[in-house]
Amino acid sequence: MFYDLRVAYHEAGHAVMGRHFNVPIQYIYKWPKGHEASAGVVFDDSLREIPFSKKGLILLAGNVAQSIHIGSLEEDYGSLNDFKPFIDRHTPEEIAKLWWQAHSILSNEWEMVERLAITLMESKRRHVMGKRIEKILKAT
Ligand SMILES: [Zn+2]
Repeated sequence: MFYDLRVAYHEAGHAVMGRHFNVPIQYIYKWPKGHEASAGVVFDDSLREIPFSKKGLILLAGNVAQSIHIGSLEEDYGSLNDFKPFIDRHTPEEIAKLWWQAHSILSNEWEMVERLAITLMESKRRHVMGKRIEKILKAT
C-alpha cells in the first residue's frame, strides 16, 4: 500500500494520536496522484467536536512521527499542509510547545506507531479500514 516508509510512519502518527484522544478512525488511504503519492487518515466526524489544541496535536503528529522515525526533522513530506492551520493562530513558541507535547505522547505510544506503520507498508490495499487498525493497535 505504501511505497515509502516515511509516509507510513507519518500517517501512523496521525492515527495513533487520534486514538489517544478517542477519535475513531474510518480508514487510512493511499493512492498515486500523478507522480506524487497522496495519503491520509480519515477520522470519524467526532474529530470536529474536540478542541483545536487536541486537533492540533493530531495534525502535528504526522511530522512528529516522521522525525522520531528518521531521528531528525525533515521538510520534504506533508510539512507545509499540516502546519498551515497553525501559522495564523499560534506563535512559533506555541507551535514548538505543541510539537514537544505531541513528541512526548507519541514516544510513549511508539510501539503502536511502529506496528501500524509496518502494517500500512505491507498492505496491498489502497484502504486500511478502521476496524483492522483498531485490532492492530490493540494487539500486544
Ligand atoms: Zn499529515
